[in-house]
Amino acid sequence: MQWYDQSGRHLPWRNLRNPYAIWLSEVILQQTRVDQGLKYWERFLEVLPTVEDLASAPESQIKGLWSGLGYYRRADLLHRGSKQIASTGWPKGYAAWLEVPGIGPYTAAALASIVDGEVVPALDGNAYRVYSRIADWSEPIETARSKAFINSFALNQLHPKRPGDFNQAVMDLAQALCTPKKPKCSECPVQEMCAARRAGSAELRPVKTRTLKVIEQDLHFGIPRRGPLFGLVRRPVGGIWSGLYTLPELATVPAEGTLLVLDHRLSHRKLRLHFYSEFEGSSEPEIWLTREEWNAHGMPQAFVHWLTKFPYI
Ligand code: SF4
Repeated sequence: MQWYDQSGRHLPWRNLRNPYAIWLSEVILQQTRVDQGLKYWERFLEVLPTVEDLASAPESQIKGLWSGLGYYRRADLLHRGSKQIASTGWPKGYAAWLEVPGIGPYTAAALASIVDGEVVPALDGNAYRVYSRIADWSEPIETARSKAFINSFALNQLHPKRPGDFNQAVMDLAQALCTPKKPKCSECPVQEMCAARRAGSAELRPVKTRTLKVIEQDLHFGIPRRGPLFGLVRRPVGGIWSGLYTLPELATVPAEGTLLVLDHRLSHRKLRLHFYSEFEGSSEPEIWLTREEWNAHGMPQAFVHWLTKFPYI
Protein backbone atom coordinates (compact mmCIF):
# COMPACT_ATOMS: atom_id res chain seq x y z
CA MET A 1 0.00 0.00 0.00
CA GLN A 2 2.98 2.24 0.60
CA TRP A 3 3.91 2.02 -3.09
CA TYR A 4 0.31 2.81 -4.10
CA ASP A 5 0.13 5.80 -1.75
CA GLN A 6 3.32 7.22 -3.23
CA SER A 7 3.25 6.06 -6.84
CA GLY A 8 -0.35 5.13 -7.70
CA ARG A 9 -2.10 7.01 -10.47
CA HIS A 10 -3.86 10.19 -9.40
CA LEU A 11 -7.31 9.75 -10.90
CA PRO A 12 -10.11 12.17 -10.05
CA TRP A 13 -12.60 9.48 -8.95
CA ARG A 14 -10.17 8.04 -6.42
CA ASN A 15 -10.73 9.38 -2.89
CA LEU A 16 -14.31 10.31 -3.85
CA ARG A 17 -17.13 8.91 -1.74
CA ASN A 18 -19.73 9.50 -4.43
CA PRO A 19 -20.92 6.05 -5.67
CA TYR A 20 -22.34 7.58 -8.86
CA ALA A 21 -18.97 9.05 -9.90
CA ILE A 22 -17.18 5.79 -9.05
CA TRP A 23 -19.71 3.54 -10.82
CA LEU A 24 -19.57 5.80 -13.88
CA SER A 25 -15.77 5.61 -13.97
CA GLU A 26 -15.80 1.81 -13.76
CA VAL A 27 -18.35 1.43 -16.57
CA ILE A 28 -16.60 3.93 -18.85
CA LEU A 29 -13.21 2.28 -18.26
CA GLN A 30 -14.42 -1.27 -18.92
CA GLN A 31 -12.93 -1.34 -22.41
CA THR A 32 -11.40 2.11 -22.63
CA ARG A 33 -8.01 3.57 -21.77
CA VAL A 34 -7.93 5.95 -18.80
CA ASP A 35 -6.68 8.91 -20.84
CA GLN A 36 -9.51 8.45 -23.35
CA GLY A 37 -12.23 7.74 -20.76
CA LEU A 38 -11.40 10.64 -18.45
CA LYS A 39 -12.97 13.37 -20.58
CA TYR A 40 -16.13 11.28 -21.07
CA TRP A 41 -16.40 10.77 -17.30
CA GLU A 42 -16.06 14.52 -16.72
CA ARG A 43 -18.63 15.30 -19.39
CA PHE A 44 -21.19 12.80 -18.05
CA LEU A 45 -20.83 14.23 -14.54
CA GLU A 46 -21.11 17.78 -15.81
CA VAL A 47 -24.20 17.20 -17.96
CA LEU A 48 -25.89 14.52 -15.81
CA PRO A 49 -24.56 15.04 -12.26
CA THR A 50 -26.70 12.42 -10.47
CA VAL A 51 -27.89 8.91 -11.17
CA GLU A 52 -31.47 10.27 -11.30
CA ASP A 53 -30.43 12.72 -14.03
CA LEU A 54 -28.91 9.87 -16.00
CA ALA A 55 -31.96 7.65 -15.50
CA SER A 56 -34.36 10.30 -16.79
CA ALA A 57 -32.19 11.47 -19.71
CA PRO A 58 -33.40 10.59 -23.23
CA GLU A 59 -31.59 7.74 -24.91
CA SER A 60 -30.35 10.00 -27.71
CA GLN A 61 -28.59 12.21 -25.14
CA ILE A 62 -26.82 9.21 -23.58
CA LYS A 63 -25.75 8.00 -27.02
CA GLY A 64 -24.52 11.48 -27.89
CA LEU A 65 -22.46 11.71 -24.69
CA TRP A 66 -21.09 8.22 -25.29
CA SER A 67 -20.29 8.83 -28.95
CA GLY A 68 -16.68 7.91 -29.71
CA LEU A 69 -16.19 5.50 -26.82
CA GLY A 70 -17.16 2.42 -28.83
CA TYR A 71 -18.77 -0.75 -27.47
CA TYR A 72 -22.09 1.09 -27.57
CA ARG A 73 -23.96 -1.66 -25.80
CA ARG A 74 -22.31 -0.32 -22.65
CA ALA A 75 -24.22 2.96 -23.08
CA ASP A 76 -27.52 1.04 -23.16
CA LEU A 77 -26.52 -0.96 -20.11
CA LEU A 78 -25.39 2.18 -18.29
CA HIS A 79 -28.79 3.74 -18.92
CA ARG A 80 -30.63 0.62 -17.79
CA GLY A 81 -28.38 0.40 -14.75
CA SER A 82 -29.11 4.00 -13.80
CA LYS A 83 -32.87 3.37 -13.98
CA GLN A 84 -32.56 0.35 -11.73
CA ILE A 85 -30.39 2.18 -9.20
CA ALA A 86 -32.63 5.26 -9.26
CA SER A 87 -35.63 3.11 -8.38
CA THR A 88 -34.09 0.61 -5.90
CA GLY A 89 -31.19 2.58 -4.40
CA TRP A 90 -27.44 1.92 -4.45
CA PRO A 91 -26.39 -1.74 -4.27
CA LYS A 92 -24.56 -2.91 -1.15
CA GLY A 93 -21.86 -5.52 -1.69
CA TYR A 94 -20.60 -7.76 -4.48
CA ALA A 95 -23.74 -9.85 -5.04
CA ALA A 96 -25.96 -6.75 -5.21
CA TRP A 97 -23.63 -4.96 -7.68
CA LEU A 98 -23.78 -8.03 -9.94
CA GLU A 99 -27.53 -7.46 -10.30
CA VAL A 100 -26.98 -4.07 -11.97
CA PRO A 101 -27.15 -4.24 -15.81
CA GLY A 102 -23.70 -4.01 -17.38
CA ILE A 103 -21.85 -5.05 -14.24
CA GLY A 104 -19.84 -8.29 -14.51
CA PRO A 105 -17.78 -10.06 -11.83
CA TYR A 106 -14.71 -7.81 -12.19
CA THR A 107 -16.59 -4.51 -12.01
CA ALA A 108 -18.86 -5.79 -9.22
CA ALA A 109 -15.78 -6.70 -7.17
CA ALA A 110 -14.09 -3.38 -7.91
CA LEU A 111 -17.20 -1.43 -6.89
CA ALA A 112 -17.95 -3.54 -3.81
CA SER A 113 -14.38 -3.10 -2.58
CA ILE A 114 -14.09 0.62 -3.40
CA VAL A 115 -17.60 1.83 -2.52
CA ASP A 116 -18.58 -0.65 0.21
CA GLY A 117 -15.17 -1.70 1.59
CA GLU A 118 -15.92 -5.38 0.95
CA VAL A 119 -12.87 -7.65 0.93
CA VAL A 120 -13.22 -9.15 -2.53
CA PRO A 121 -10.53 -9.33 -5.25
CA ALA A 122 -11.21 -7.55 -8.56
CA LEU A 123 -9.80 -9.88 -11.20
CA ASP A 124 -9.41 -8.84 -14.81
CA GLY A 125 -6.66 -9.78 -17.27
CA ASN A 126 -4.22 -7.36 -15.60
CA ALA A 127 -4.85 -8.72 -12.11
CA TYR A 128 -4.59 -12.31 -13.35
CA ARG A 129 -1.20 -11.44 -14.81
CA VAL A 130 0.11 -9.93 -11.57
CA TYR A 131 -1.19 -12.67 -9.28
CA SER A 132 -0.18 -15.53 -11.59
CA ARG A 133 3.34 -14.13 -11.58
CA ILE A 134 3.55 -13.60 -7.84
CA ALA A 135 2.40 -17.20 -7.36
CA ASP A 136 4.30 -18.43 -10.46
CA TRP A 137 1.13 -20.30 -11.48
CA SER A 138 2.07 -22.53 -14.41
CA GLU A 139 -1.32 -23.84 -15.53
CA PRO A 140 -3.41 -22.28 -18.34
CA ILE A 141 -5.09 -19.26 -16.82
CA GLU A 142 -8.45 -19.75 -18.57
CA THR A 143 -9.42 -22.91 -16.69
CA ALA A 144 -11.88 -22.96 -13.79
CA ARG A 145 -9.17 -24.49 -11.60
CA SER A 146 -6.75 -21.62 -12.34
CA LYS A 147 -9.43 -19.01 -11.74
CA ALA A 148 -10.38 -20.59 -8.42
CA PHE A 149 -6.73 -20.70 -7.38
CA ILE A 150 -6.03 -17.07 -8.32
CA ASN A 151 -9.24 -15.93 -6.61
CA SER A 152 -8.28 -17.64 -3.38
CA PHE A 153 -4.64 -16.48 -3.66
CA ALA A 154 -5.71 -12.87 -4.27
CA LEU A 155 -8.21 -13.00 -1.41
CA ASN A 156 -5.35 -13.88 0.94
CA GLN A 157 -3.30 -10.92 -0.27
CA LEU A 158 -6.01 -8.24 -0.01
CA HIS A 159 -5.57 -5.52 2.57
CA PRO A 160 -8.40 -6.11 5.08
CA LYS A 161 -8.94 -2.42 5.80
CA ARG A 162 -8.29 -0.99 2.33
CA PRO A 163 -9.54 -3.63 -0.15
CA GLY A 164 -10.59 -1.03 -2.74
CA ASP A 165 -7.23 0.70 -2.69
CA PHE A 166 -5.49 -2.67 -2.83
CA ASN A 167 -7.43 -3.70 -5.95
CA GLN A 168 -6.58 -0.37 -7.55
CA ALA A 169 -2.94 -0.78 -6.53
CA VAL A 170 -2.81 -4.12 -8.37
CA MET A 171 -4.20 -2.40 -11.49
CA ASP A 172 -1.58 0.35 -11.24
CA LEU A 173 1.19 -2.17 -10.66
CA ALA A 174 0.07 -4.13 -13.74
CA GLN A 175 0.04 -0.98 -15.81
CA ALA A 176 3.26 0.63 -14.57
CA LEU A 177 5.58 -2.26 -13.74
CA CYS A 178 4.12 -5.74 -14.22
CA THR A 179 3.58 -5.25 -17.93
CA PRO A 180 2.93 -8.17 -20.32
CA LYS A 181 6.43 -7.87 -21.79
CA LYS A 182 9.62 -6.84 -20.00
CA PRO A 183 8.17 -6.32 -16.50
CA LYS A 184 10.23 -3.91 -14.41
CA CYS A 185 10.87 -6.36 -11.57
CA SER A 186 13.80 -4.42 -10.13
CA GLU A 187 11.45 -1.50 -9.35
CA CYS A 188 8.57 -3.63 -8.14
CA PRO A 189 7.40 -3.29 -4.52
CA VAL A 190 6.51 -7.00 -4.31
CA GLN A 191 9.64 -8.39 -5.93
CA GLU A 192 10.71 -10.16 -2.73
CA MET A 193 7.56 -12.24 -2.63
CA CYS A 194 7.26 -12.79 -6.40
CA ALA A 195 7.91 -16.44 -7.24
CA ALA A 196 8.02 -15.86 -11.01
CA ARG A 197 10.73 -13.23 -10.60
CA ARG A 198 12.80 -15.66 -8.54
CA ALA A 199 12.24 -18.45 -11.07
CA GLY A 200 12.92 -16.19 -14.06
CA SER A 201 9.51 -17.08 -15.51
CA ALA A 202 7.71 -13.73 -15.25
CA GLU A 203 7.28 -13.29 -19.00
CA LEU A 204 5.93 -16.84 -19.29
CA ARG A 205 3.07 -16.05 -16.90
CA PRO A 206 0.18 -16.19 -17.23
CA VAL A 207 0.11 -19.30 -19.39
CA LYS A 208 -2.46 -18.89 -22.14
CA THR A 209 -3.84 -21.57 -24.40
CA ARG A 210 -6.74 -20.10 -26.28
CA THR A 211 -6.65 -17.47 -28.96
CA LEU A 212 -9.79 -15.63 -29.93
CA LYS A 213 -11.00 -16.15 -33.47
CA VAL A 214 -11.31 -12.96 -35.49
CA ILE A 215 -14.39 -12.87 -37.72
CA GLU A 216 -14.10 -11.18 -41.11
CA GLN A 217 -17.26 -9.54 -42.42
CA ASP A 218 -18.32 -7.31 -45.33
CA LEU A 219 -21.03 -4.70 -44.74
CA HIS A 220 -22.66 -2.67 -47.52
CA PHE A 221 -24.20 0.75 -46.95
CA GLY A 222 -26.22 3.04 -49.18
CA ILE A 223 -25.92 6.82 -48.84
CA PRO A 224 -29.37 8.42 -49.10
CA ARG A 225 -29.00 12.15 -49.77
CA ARG A 226 -31.40 15.11 -49.85
CA GLY A 227 -29.18 18.09 -50.50
CA PRO A 228 -27.06 18.54 -47.34
CA LEU A 229 -29.07 15.91 -45.44
CA PHE A 230 -28.11 12.25 -45.02
CA GLY A 231 -30.73 9.57 -44.32
CA LEU A 232 -29.97 7.36 -41.35
CA VAL A 233 -31.56 4.32 -39.75
CA ARG A 234 -31.31 2.98 -36.23
CA ARG A 235 -29.42 -0.31 -36.01
CA PRO A 236 -30.97 -3.28 -34.23
CA VAL A 237 -30.17 -3.68 -30.55
CA GLY A 238 -27.64 -6.41 -29.82
CA GLY A 239 -25.59 -6.40 -33.04
CA ILE A 240 -22.67 -4.28 -34.24
CA TRP A 241 -23.14 -0.63 -33.18
CA SER A 242 -26.21 -1.70 -31.24
CA GLY A 243 -29.00 0.91 -31.29
CA LEU A 244 -26.92 3.64 -32.97
CA TYR A 245 -27.80 5.52 -36.12
CA THR A 246 -25.85 4.67 -39.26
CA LEU A 247 -26.39 4.80 -42.99
CA PRO A 248 -28.84 2.07 -44.06
CA GLU A 249 -27.36 -1.34 -44.73
CA LEU A 250 -28.15 -2.86 -48.13
CA ALA A 251 -29.87 -6.23 -48.34
CA THR A 252 -28.48 -6.87 -51.84
CA VAL A 253 -25.09 -5.72 -53.06
CA PRO A 254 -25.25 -3.34 -56.07
CA ALA A 255 -23.19 -4.37 -59.09
CA GLU A 256 -21.71 -0.89 -59.37
CA GLY A 257 -21.73 2.56 -57.82
CA THR A 258 -19.15 1.94 -55.08
CA LEU A 259 -17.99 5.27 -53.66
CA LEU A 260 -15.63 4.07 -50.99
CA VAL A 261 -14.33 0.89 -49.35
CA LEU A 262 -12.84 1.06 -45.86
CA ASP A 263 -11.40 -1.43 -43.42
CA HIS A 264 -12.36 -1.16 -39.80
CA ARG A 265 -11.33 -3.27 -36.84
CA LEU A 266 -13.58 -3.98 -33.88
CA SER A 267 -12.38 -6.12 -30.98
CA HIS A 268 -13.02 -9.51 -32.59
CA ARG A 269 -14.09 -8.50 -36.04
CA LYS A 270 -12.38 -7.28 -39.17
CA LEU A 271 -14.95 -5.30 -41.09
CA ARG A 272 -14.78 -4.24 -44.72
CA LEU A 273 -17.30 -1.46 -45.27
CA HIS A 274 -18.57 -0.65 -48.74
CA PHE A 275 -20.43 2.59 -49.42
CA TYR A 276 -22.69 3.06 -52.46
CA SER A 277 -24.40 6.01 -54.04
CA GLU A 278 -27.78 4.25 -54.13
CA PHE A 279 -29.76 2.60 -51.38
CA GLU A 280 -32.45 0.56 -53.08
CA GLY A 281 -33.34 -2.52 -51.10
CA SER A 282 -32.35 -0.94 -47.79
CA SER A 283 -34.66 0.23 -45.01
CA GLU A 284 -36.18 3.68 -45.53
CA PRO A 285 -34.23 6.34 -43.61
CA GLU A 286 -35.77 7.19 -40.24
CA ILE A 287 -34.06 10.55 -39.75
CA TRP A 288 -32.34 13.07 -42.01
CA LEU A 289 -29.34 14.95 -40.63
CA THR A 290 -26.58 17.22 -41.84
CA ARG A 291 -22.96 16.20 -41.24
CA GLU A 292 -22.79 18.63 -38.32
CA GLU A 293 -25.72 16.94 -36.57
CA TRP A 294 -24.32 13.40 -36.67
CA ASN A 295 -22.32 13.60 -33.47
CA ALA A 296 -25.29 14.58 -31.35
CA HIS A 297 -27.22 11.51 -32.47
CA GLY A 298 -24.85 8.84 -31.29
CA MET A 299 -23.57 7.87 -34.71
CA PRO A 300 -20.54 5.55 -34.41
CA GLN A 301 -17.48 7.77 -34.28
CA ALA A 302 -15.91 5.77 -37.08
CA PHE A 303 -18.72 6.84 -39.45
CA VAL A 304 -18.42 10.48 -38.44
CA HIS A 305 -14.69 10.28 -39.03
CA TRP A 306 -14.89 8.64 -42.45
CA LEU A 307 -17.70 10.70 -43.82
CA THR A 308 -15.99 13.88 -42.68
CA LYS A 309 -12.68 12.71 -44.11
CA PHE A 310 -14.26 12.01 -47.49
CA PRO A 311 -16.33 15.15 -48.14
CA TYR A 312 -17.07 14.14 -51.74
CA ILE A 313 -19.55 11.58 -50.42
S1 SF4 B 1 8.39 -8.77 -9.46
FE1 SF4 B 1 8.12 -8.54 -11.64
S2 SF4 B 1 6.79 -10.22 -12.27
FE2 SF4 B 1 6.66 -10.05 -10.05
S3 SF4 B 1 4.88 -8.78 -9.70
FE3 SF4 B 1 6.66 -7.43 -9.73
S4 SF4 B 1 6.84 -6.70 -11.87
FE4 SF4 B 1 5.45 -8.49 -11.82
